[in-house]
Amino acid sequence: MIKIPIFLDYQSTTPVDPRVLEAMLPYFSQEFGNAASKNHAFGWNAMKKVDWGRVQIARLINASPSEIIFTSGATESNNIALKGVFEMYKEKGNHIITQVTEHKAVLDSCKYLESLGAKITYLPVDASGRIRIDDLNKAITDKTILISIMFANNEIGTLQPIQEIGHIAKIDHVLFHVDAAQAAGRVPIDVEKLGIDILSLSAHKMYGPKGIGVLYVREKNPRVRLSPVIHGGGHERGFRSGTLNVPGIVGFGKAAEIAIKEMSAEVEKLTSLRDKLYTGITRELDHVQLNGHSTERLCNNLNLSFGFADSESLMKVLCEEVAVSSGSACSTGNPEPSHVLKALGLPEDRIQSSIRFGLGRFTTDEEIEYTIKRVAAHVKRLRDVSPVYQSLQKSAKA
Ligand SMILES: *Cc1c(COP(=O)(O)O)cnc(C)c1O
Repeated sequence: MIKIPIFLDYQSTTPVDPRVLEAMLPYFSQEFGNAASKNHAFGWNAMKKVDWGRVQIARLINASPSEIIFTSGATESNNIALKGVFEMYKEKGNHIITQVTEHKAVLDSCKYLESLGAKITYLPVDASGRIRIDDLNKAITDKTILISIMFANNEIGTLQPIQEIGHIAKIDHVLFHVDAAQAAGRVPIDVEKLGIDILSLSAHKMYGPKGIGVLYVREKNPRVRLSPVIHGGGHERGFRSGTLNVPGIVGFGKAAEIAIKEMSAEVEKLTSLRDKLYTGITRELDHVQLNGHSTERLCNNLNLSFGFADSESLMKVLCEEVAVSSGSACSTGNPEPSHVLKALGLPEDRIQSSIRFGLGRFTTDEEIEYTIKRVAAHVKRLRDVSPVYQSLQKSAKA
């Protein structure tokens, strides 16, 4: 028995894993202490568990616990990374390099910094969504203070060549920030091996709760300094003031612990389900195109364009059965065509017919089979009433 609607929008968020919820619950009630209270057991117990959470997340990315700063999510982490570096390294330069398919939290922070005098280079991407290393090399000047490139794209799942970028950043003594909200728990992340200096994470993209995130800030080789965005009691070594979200941190810690243990098996399962979905859909339907990179991509993302079927109409008829999103659904109520698909150089009609399928920990074989059937049926029905498709069919027969 499958439960309808099926959730296939795991890039937008993920359900809290029951093990995560169980770990969090006591920290709302019995263990409610403020982790900054130094004078009694309520505070000590909370701090002890916060420290435990910090260790789990540090292990996930091969960092030291003291390099983990808790924030409200990847949006805030990205804001601190960009604004914090810009303000702190003003003397050195005002140039930041990013790329066109970043999350809005990066792009909008860059726009804001431009108003403060920053020079931003937005690297283009190739048809698969990757930057060209050559473009990056050419963009770096002696005024460059930061390179900010995401690990995995949230719409098309394309992975960027992070290790190569990290290598260049090291050689040129430029700080390297990575938004890894989609990659964490799906791709091994080793900040040492990859040469990452600053990294953003979000718990709710990896079966933790919403409203808790992390900023990894490298402590040595080099020691990264950041101006705070939120001022207050000096929590989190002054990087981010505010009473710690103890239940959130416990949940994030548990989610990281699970990810470390189960990632490789989960990636294998998701890759096979994703491939089954792709094979099934393309067996049932012609004129289906994959958006993004064919191999350098997330195990749980499938972004497809259905020729002669408008994605808004498709989602409208599909939404009671399968929850998916169009490429553009990440910005609140934004009806504009996806900036990511546009950056790939796709024609308007292919952008307007794209659907993002996001698979996850609780996706089953039966759900994928059902989705293939329902998507095929709905696309066929839309094509039945598409004059362009019908005349194409006629001329093909003639
Ligand atoms: C979801 C997401 C964000 C925003 O994270 P929040 O924790 O929801 O603020 C940033 N970047 C990427 C790549 C994301 O997928």
